[in-house]
Amino acid sequence: MARYTEHRTIEIKGMRASQFHISTAKETPNDAEIASHQLMLRAGLIRRLGSGLYSWLPLGLRVVRKIEAVVREEMNKAGALEVLMPSIQPSELWQESGRWEKFGPELLRLHDRHNREYCVGPTHEEVITDIARREIKSYRQLPLNFYQIQTKFRDEVRPRFGVMRAREFIMKDGYSFNLGAESLQQSFDQMHVAYCNVFDRMGLTYRAVEADSGSIGGAQSREFHVLADSGEDAVVYSTEGEYAANMEKAVAVSQGTRGEASQAMETIDTPGVHTITELATQLDIDESKCLKTLLVQGVETPVIALVLRGDHQLNEVKAEHLPEVASPLTMADAAAIKAAANCDAGSIGPVGLSIPVIADADAAKMSDFVCGANQNDKHLSGVNWDRDLPEPIVRDLRNVVEGDASPVGGGTLKIVRGIEVGHIFQLGDTYSQSMGASVLDENGKPQVMLMGCYGIGITRIAAAAIEQNNDDKGMIWPMAIAPFEAVICPINMVKSEAVKEAAEALYNELKEAGVDVLFDDRPLRPGAMFADMELIGIPHRFVVSDKLLANNEIEYRDRTAAESVIIPRADVLSKIV
Ligand code: ATP
Ligand code: MG
Ligand code: MG
Ligand code: MG
Repeated sequence: MARYTEHRTIEIKGMRASQFHISTAKETPNDAEIASHQLMLRAGLIRRLGSGLYSWLPLGLRVVRKIEAVVREEMNKAGALEVLMPSIQPSELWQESGRWEKFGPELLRLHDRHNREYCVGPTHEEVITDIARREIKSYRQLPLNFYQIQTKFRDEVRPRFGVMRAREFIMKDGYSFNLGAESLQQSFDQMHVAYCNVFDRMGLTYRAVEADSGSIGGAQSREFHVLADSGEDAVVYSTEGEYAANMEKAVAVSQGTRGEASQAMETIDTPGVHTITELATQLDIDESKCLKTLLVQGVETPVIALVLRGDHQLNEVKAEHLPEVASPLTMADAAAIKAAANCDAGSIGPVGLSIPVIADADAAKMSDFVCGANQNDKHLSGVNWDRDLPEPIVRDLRNVVEGDASPVGGGTLKIVRGIEVGHIFQLGDTYSQSMGASVLDENGKPQVMLMGCYGIGITRIAAAAIEQNNDDKGMIWPMAIAPFEAVICPINMVKSEAVKEAAEALYNELKEAGVDVLFDDRPLRPGAMFADMELIGIPHRFVVSDKLLANNEIEYRDRTAAESVIIPRADVLSKIV
C-alpha cells in the first residue's frame, strides 16, 4: 500500500511566487486590440511566436489545464470516451471523404520525405470515421462517443486577437456514432446538456443558438456563444421566448426560406425625417450608433430600411443610386444593393427585408431598434417575430407596412455580440457513407452509422472568459478556471518574522483544505504586489500584516468587490470553500 501511494500521481495544489514564473508588464502592448489579448500578454499568460502561433507560459497553462479538466469531467460524465489522434493526417482519408478537394487554403498541406501528402488536422472527422469503421462492427457496440483534447491547425485568413482566433489552438472535438436518427438525437441532446454544464461551471454568460447546418437538410446544429461586445459573431434572441440563432441562421429565417418566421413591426411617427441624421436626432439616438439608410425596392412599394452598424461609416443610399431591381428581389439584386450601399452581407434578404446588424455595445442595449418603413413620415420599430407563422415574410412585411399585420408573439428580438466557444452538429451519414462506416443491425444487415460532432474551443475559452470578466486593473477569473484560486500577500515579510510565520501557516492551511493558493513571498512593496495579483485576476486575496496579526485578523478582498474587508483569522476558509 505504501509503495502504491508513493508511486501514485498526486495533485499538488499551491505555489510559492518566488519559485514560479511571474512576468507582468504595465504597458499595454500596441499590437493587441482587445482586452483579453492585451491582458494575456501583460499578465504573462501567453507569448507570440509568429502569426496565430502562441506559447503558453506557466501561468496561462494553468488556465488551459483547468478548462480542459472541466471539459474532460463533463465529457466523461456524459459517457464520452477519451482518445488521442495524430495531428498529422494522411491525404488519402481526405480524398475518401472528398474534403481534400473541397477544403480551401485553411488546410495546411505538407509532404514527407517519400513525397506522400498530409495535412495538419483542422478537425478529425476523417480519422475518427476511419477508426470507427475498423473498430465498430455490430449495433450492440452503439451508441459510442469518442472525444479528444488536442492541438488543431487552421491557416486562418485573418488570425487575430491572440489565442481567440489563432492558427494553432487546442480544441476538444468529439464524435458520436449512432444507429438511427433517434439515437443520434439522444447523443446530441446529451452533449447539449454537457456543454451547458461546462459553461455553467466556468461561470460564463453564454447562449446556445441555432446555427446553420449547411448542406445537411434538417440536421440540428447549435453554437454556444459567450456574450461579449468584442465578439466576432452576432447572435439574435428573443427576450421572452426560447428563440435564439446566430446571424446567418436568423437572416435565413427572415428571408422566409424556412417559412417558419416572420417579423412584425410597429410604425412610429417620424414626420419630415429622411436622413440618418434627422432620424437620430428625432429618436434621440447617438448618430455614432450608425444608422444606415437603404432604400430598397420592396414588393410593391419602396421600403426604407435602416441598418445599424458598428463600423461608424454612415452611408446614405438614395433611391436614385440603387440599381433597378425586380420585385420581389432576387439574391443577385440584393447583392447589387449591398455593393451600392457598402453594407454588411446578409443584411438584405431576397425580399428586400433588412435585418438590423448591431455591432456596438451601446446599440446592442437598444431593445427597440428602428428598422425602416415605406410610408412617408413613418418608420418601423420594435421588431418581433413568430416562428410558427407560416406565411412568407414578404406578405407580413407588406401587411405590417400597411398597418394591419396580425400581432405576433414570442417577445422582442435582440441582437448581441458573441464569441463562438462551442459547436454541436448532427453530421448524419456524410462521412460514414463516403468512407463506408457501417455496422450489422439486429437482422444481420449492414447499416451506415450516423454521426454527430461536438467541438469546444479550449484555448479560445480562456480569452472569452477574460473578455467577459475584466476591469481597469486586469482580469477577473471565474473560480473554476482561475490560474490560482487564492493568493496570500504578506506585508513586509522580509522584516517581520511574525508575518512570515503567519503567512506560512495560512499557506499550509489553505493547501491542506485543497485550495489552489499562490503564496506571494516575493520581496515586493505591497502596491506592486497587489497590482500584479489584480492584473492576474486571482479571485480571493488574503493580506497578512503585523497590524492585522495583533488583532488576530486578516484582510480579505474578493476580486469582484469594490472594497477589502477585515475578517477574523478563523473565517478565512469560509470565504473560499
Ligand atoms: P469560427 O466561426 O470562429 O471560425 P468555426 O465555426 O470555424 O469557428 P468549429 O469548426 O465549429 O469552428 O470548431 C469548434 C470550436 O473550435 C469553435 O466553436 C471555436 O470555439 C474553436 N475554434 C475554431 N477556430 C478557432 C481558432 N482559429 N482559434 C481558436 N479557436 C477556434
Ligand atoms: Mg472557422
Ligand atoms: Mg463558426
Ligand atoms: Mg462552428
